[in-house]
Amino acid sequence: MEMAESITLDLEQSFGDLNECVLVTNPDRVIVYANTALARLLRVEPAELAGAMTKQFFADPAQFEEVGELYRSPEDPRPRKKAYAFEVIRSDGTTTSVEVISAPIFDAANNLSGYLFVVRDISERKALEKRLSDVALTLEDALEAISEGFAIYDCDDRLIICNDNYRDIYEHSTAAIVPGSRFEDILRFGLTRDQYNTGGLSKDEWLEQRLVKHREADGSVIEQNLADGRWLRISETRTRSGGTAGIRADITELKEARARAESAYKNLSLMADNVSASITEIDTDGVCVFINKTGCEWFDGSPEELIGTSLRDRLPWKEREVLLPIFRQALQGQKVASEVSLNFPDGVRRECHLDCNPRVNDQGGVDGLVVLVNDITDRKKTERTLAELYAITSTRELGHEEKIAEILRLGCEHFELPFGIISDIAEDRYTLAYTHCPADELVSGVTFPLGDTYCALTLKANEPLATVNAAQSEFAEHPCYKLFELETYIGAPLIVDGVPYGTINFSAPSPRKRDFTAADIQIVRQFADWIGHEIARQRDHQALMDAKINLERVASIDDLTQILNRRAFLERANTEIQRFRRSKQPFTAVMLDIDNFKQINDQFGHAAGDEVLVKFSRSISNALRAVDVFGRVGGEEFCLILHETQENEALLVCERLRRTILTDCQMEDVDQTITCSMGLAVAAREDIEFSTLMQKADTALYQAKTSGRNKCIVFGSEPAQTPD
Ligand code: GH3
Ligand code: MG
Ligand code: MG
Repeated sequence: MEMAESITLDLEQSFGDLNECVLVTNPDRVIVYANTALARLLRVEPAELAGAMTKQFFADPAQFEEVGELYRSPEDPRPRKKAYAFEVIRSDGTTTSVEVISAPIFDAANNLSGYLFVVRDISERKALEKRLSDVALTLEDALEAISEGFAIYDCDDRLIICNDNYRDIYEHSTAAIVPGSRFEDILRFGLTRDQYNTGGLSKDEWLEQRLVKHREADGSVIEQNLADGRWLRISETRTRSGGTAGIRADITELKEARARAESAYKNLSLMADNVSASITEIDTDGVCVFINKTGCEWFDGSPEELIGTSLRDRLPWKEREVLLPIFRQALQGQKVASEVSLNFPDGVRRECHLDCNPRVNDQGGVDGLVVLVNDITDRKKTERTLAELYAITSTRELGHEEKIAEILRLGCEHFELPFGIISDIAEDRYTLAYTHCPADELVSGVTFPLGDTYCALTLKANEPLATVNAAQSEFAEHPCYKLFELETYIGAPLIVDGVPYGTINFSAPSPRKRDFTAADIQIVRQFADWIGHEIARQRDHQALMDAKINLERVASIDDLTQILNRRAFLERANTEIQRFRRSKQPFTAVMLDIDNFKQINDQFGHAAGDEVLVKFSRSISNALRAVDVFGRVGGEEFCLILHETQENEALLVCERLRRTILTDCQMEDVDQTITCSMGLAVAAREDIEFSTLMQKADTALYQAKTSGRNKCIVFGSEPAQTPD
């Protein structure tokens, strides 16, 4: 025991102040020495430990035996376990984890005299490990909770952890997806089972590309197509320890929705591109979001150039001022329709119908405007032309010819062509009836062979015909093209009173920029209708005038002698009296009567008498000036007005007439000299009515008769001597 006590003192000196717990037992594992640290661990007084059996501190007594392994002798060839971990029970009944290492102690005779144990409290480490494992579990739970597939690979590209979603996504690769598997091996495993759609690449090429992306692990998005059609979005990033963390989302539905939306957008664009209106969408800042084909043409740019820019900035200031209030109103959420005239960047001025539709969001705010612009230039022009046509045709101020000229001018203006023609076609001749042209190049009355004109085709078609580029059409083969090189033509047949008359046509030597519209065809038809109507009216008018003239002639001309009858003569005589009253220029009235006419009738028959009357009238008429007036006022009585002729001159004229009768009026079958007597009266101030003058002349005539006939006597003068 002395020896033992001295040993104990040595031990106390060696281990007493160590933080590690140290104890020494005898071979029967009864405590010989324990330091303070152990007493603290077991929560007992150090003195209580000496002599205590170590077994009592084991929480699980079975472990007491296991620890016995530690006691084997150094010569024991079996591998030696270095340390044991177990629970010890403390004096207050609580337990704690410890780790124990041991060494046998031998005496000088090499006999086992006891054991040295070093006991380490590992409860803190245990608690840490527990916490770590809890964290790992939490992490696993968290991974399972996310709806995407998630996997982490270490720096050697071996799978550390993944969630069930990851395994579920790659259902054909599941067997390979176990911690420790290399990424590339998992891919190969999947490839052999057709997990992926390689998109036409060989499996090796696909694998190569995939691994390149995987190694980059730069967080960029990869879209991966699986063989069953599913699409995954993969994002891989590098971990701090040099591995990769990847996340996979199934975007199949998203892709499908996107494809549907894209196809819907394409259809919409296709539709929008096939309308003649400009369709644009702008945001609240006026930036273009969408523009269709027509819009691109008008704004003179490609969609790439125009989208994302402000279309407004491309318009002249004036147009912006016009549009601003319209857009403002629409941005307040109101639909605005308006008609405006705008100059577009393509250099064309268009009259526009503008529909501004606000795009209202769910909150009721305006996100932007959809602007529909219809080109109504043609419609407006047609309206104006028709209104003008109506004005021309309904006015009373213009004559027939003027109306036709105006219609030709209007047509040239409307179609923007230099030449306007109304042709009169008879047989195979084409005559320019009316023309409108810049420098009188076309002269009315000029004729062409019908076959040399496009109008031959128009007449044949019996409806309007048009071309804007003859060279590119069947017109190119026509003789008219070869002769006149007219590129542009629009014409319609003219029907007058149901009978083809000719054509109305407008033409130009140059091709027209724009096609003729359906409205243009209607307009030329309308022109033809009106001209046909106008020509028919003119014809009716002419016929009426002719009939009137004829009627007047019939009413004023004596049937037998074809000179003025009494009524017509007296009308003219009154005019002469009125002129005399104004001008005071006197004229002479002469009464003529054939001598012994009754005898002619009696001896040679009434017909011979008539013949004398005709011959007499013609002789006198032929001998007179155009200004003199001659009429038959009775059976064989005639009256003559010598215009602005006074007594002496009148007497000379009458004498000449009297002699003319003697030479010109004789008849072979009539054996009687035809003579006539004349009474002259010069108009005087008192002759307010012609009848008074006529009476005076009649008086003079009576004197001529009674004084021997075949003579001329002036009223109020001495009877002349008997003639020769
Ligand atoms: P005077 O020299 O005095 O004039 O003798 P006159 O025989 O000519 O007498 P008057 O002038 O009185 O005779 C007119 C005759 O003319 C009467 C009538 O029979 C005839 N007469 C009148 N009109 C026509 C007619 O249209 N044709 C024909 N053949 N005779 C007519
Ligand atoms: Mg008579
Ligand atoms: Mg007579």
